[in-house]
Amino acid sequence: MVGGGVVSSCLMKTTPDGKIRCPKDATIMERMSVGSGDLVVDHCGRCGAIWFDAYELDAVLKAKDKGVDLGDIDYGAAGHGYEYKVLRDDFLECPRDHTKLVQVPDPRQPHVVIDICRTCGGVLLDSGELKDLSEFTLGERMKSFFRLKKE
Ligand SMILES: [Zn+2]
Ligand SMILES: [Zn+2]
Repeated sequence: MVGGGVVSSCLMKTTPDGKIRCPKDATIMERMSVGSGDLVVDHCGRCGAIWFDAYELDAVLKAKDKGVDLGDIDYGAAGHGYEYKVLRDDFLECPRDHTKLVQVPDPRQPHVVIDICRTCGGVLLDSGELKDLSEFTLGERMKSFFRLKKE
């Protein structure tokens, strides 16, 4: 007999052309290029959330530090995603592998909470959060993330 908590439907909610759905509202996310265009992230046109695969956020932050304007992909004001945050008490699922995302708040900017997938390393940012984030603050956050895990 198989116990409870069986992997229910592991069907990937991807669309045929490889797009993913927003973990917050299931809207199919648009692929949006950053800067010169070789970098592409997934953006939710409904709530403004942005999904970064493991290597993408790092690359985007590097581009940002080089002066690339990220206004194209992150045009929302910080806090725009709040209504979705309030609605969810449960965890969001990774759009790639359906692992529960871990919420990592920034101790200095409590309005900014990033959601991280421990399986694939993907990161979900709410609308406006990317503007508040730099490589440095991301590093700080990862540190606090591992501090949280130890407890
Ligand atoms: Zn969304
Ligand atoms: Zn994942």
